[in-house]
Formats: sequence, C-alpha cells, structure tokens
Amino acid sequence: MRIHDLKQRLRQAGAGPSHEHRILRTWLRAQPGNTAKRPPEKFFPASLLAALPAIEADLASLARIQVVEAGEDGSERLLVALADGQTVESVLLPREGLCVSSQVGCAVGCQFCMTGRSGLLRQVGSAEIIAQVALARARRPVRKVVFMGMGEPSHNLDNVMEAIELLGTAGNIGHKNLVFSTVGDPRAFARLAQGAVKPALALSLHTTRTDLRKTLLPRAPDLSPEELVDECERYARASGYPIQYQWTLLQGVNDGPEEIEGIVRLLTGKWGVLNLIPFNEVEGAGFSRPSLERCKAMARELHRRGILTKLRYSAGQDVDGGCGQLRARAAGADGAKVRIVRRASAPSSALAQ
Ligand code: SF4
Repeated sequence: MRIHDLKQRLRQAGAGPSHEHRILRTWLRAQPGNTAKRPPEKFFPASLLAALPAIEADLASLARIQVVEAGEDGSERLLVALADGQTVESVLLPREGLCVSSQVGCAVGCQFCMTGRSGLLRQVGSAEIIAQVALARARRPVRKVVFMGMGEPSHNLDNVMEAIELLGTAGNIGHKNLVFSTVGDPRAFARLAQGAVKPALALSLHTTRTDLRKTLLPRAPDLSPEELVDECERYARASGYPIQYQWTLLQGVNDGPEEIEGIVRLLTGKWGVLNLIPFNEVEGAGFSRPSLERCKAMARELHRRGILTKLRYSAGQDVDGGCGQLRARAAGADGAKVRIVRRASAPSSALAQ
C-alpha cells in the first residue's frame, strides 16, 4: 500500500485535510504500548468514524514483528513480516535511531552483502516503510530514520520519497535526521534535490578505484568515484547537510595505502564525513574484516591527512547481523510468534547510525 492510496481512502470516507493529518500523525507517532490511540471522536465526521476501524485494521496488518534480536549495545534487530509473508529487517539503534528496509532483497548485488544474494524480490510500499517506523515507535522513541536496511532506496524512489515526506512532516522527524543511503544513482541525486523534505545523504563509496567498485558493487550505476563525489557535493550544498561517505572495510581489498591516497585525493575539501565500517562476516563472501589495529590506524592516518573520519563499530553489530542475515537465518523458521533473542557475539554489521 502507498500513502497516496491511504490518503485517498480517508478522503473517500469523509476526511478533510486536518482529519487526515491527525490520523496519519497518530499512526506515525505510536507510543510504547499505545499503537492505536485514536483522536477524540468528536473531531471526526460520522462517515469517517464508521470507516476508521477497518482502516486501522488494515494499517495494523501491514507489518508485524516476527523476531527481535537484542544487542548488548542497546540496539534491537527486528525481523518484520509483511502482509504477504515476505520479511524485511529494521534495526532500532542506540540514541533513538531506526534503520528501515526499502526493498525485499536488492538488485545491486554487492559482493559483501547477504541481502544482495537474493536479488530483488519486491518493492516495499511507502505505507510498509511507515509501518516499520510505527512498530519501532511502539517499542521506544525514534527521532532518526536511516534508509540503510535491505534494498537500494534509489530503486524504489517513489515509495521512499513519499515515506520521507511523511516522516519529515506528520512524523515530526528533523530533515537532517532522515538519511537516504545510496550506491549512487543519478535519479536519486536529481529527485532528492527537488523534494519538499530534503534528507541527509549517505553514499556507499567503499573504494576510490572505478574498476574495484565495479567488482564490489556489480550492478551499481556506472559513475566513477569522482563523478559520485561531485554529485554528492552538489546535493550537500542544496540540502545544507554534509555527506556521509560509507566505507565497508575489507581486509586486503580497500584498507591499504593506495586507498588512503585515493581518499585524500577524492575527499579533501569536500563537505562530508567518512564512516569506516569494519566488514561483517558473511558466509561464503570471501572477505575478512581487518584487525581492529588496522582499522584504527587507517582512521588515524586519514584524520592526520585532514579527512574527517569516524570508525564505526556500528549499532546492532552484536546481534550478528549485517543487513539480510537475520532474514536469512529466520528463513524456514516458525515465525508465528514473536521470538526474542539476546545475543552477545562479535561485532558484525554494515548498518551504521
Ligand atoms: S549493500 Fe545495500 S545496495 Fe548493496 S546489495 Fe546490500 S542492500 Fe543492496
């Protein structure tokens, strides 16, 4: 379902703009233990009141939590079942953040990502994206939403932009706290700059070498790192927020002196921050995570060379989940009831707050 369809249905039931806004706001601002708090009845026309129970039931059936994996850092990885039985992952991050999925599967096929292995199964509707936020907010406050879960948001632009607009208005989330993450699709750069709500932008860069990027991200758009950074720089100026350059650290692949030189060449003077994210082990991917010492040394060297760099052992790491891994583990398991699992394993995620 799309937000657009939901609005139409509300209007057909007699909702005016203020009624519509109030219903959407109530849905989006779900409080713990109060997911379906309805505005006072006197506020609505009778026809809308009559239609509301069915509409609320449909919203509630959009998504439900199937598995919760709690991390030691305060994160929670949620396996969310959609109405047709497909599942996506959301991650509640420390400091009131939430990572949502925009697609079931993904067509980009990054070599280090579990989600990429399945290919694209289907798009996640804008209402299903919002439902992930509502489910998360029923557990705890959410003031930041990052589109870094399953899927490439640029490949589902209409739904993602619709969700972003609602989150940045009725959802009461500051625009800089909405983060659109992409491998770098020209359609996204063009569209984001035109949106009424302009989110912050994260670019999955991973290497400064065009040839290596083609190998690591086989179906990403054919833009060189230089072209991508130029696009990002333009958007940073248009939105007013610095770019988050994402870099999954792969031992012996993109953690060496050649890449450090490339980063300095590419990002010096640019408005952004480089997030180094040690690789999360994915079975059969053929990559390893560099040692902590190596990661720290690279971050230190880049800092010394004037690149704002953060080493992110990202939230949700200790729930053994780069995006797609919980879904893969749960495949075939009985998901009829919410399972809550507490894990304490080694760091392991590509999801950064
Ligand atoms: S890392 Fe992101 S873009 Fe790449 S395959 Fe995984 S979900 Fe898709």
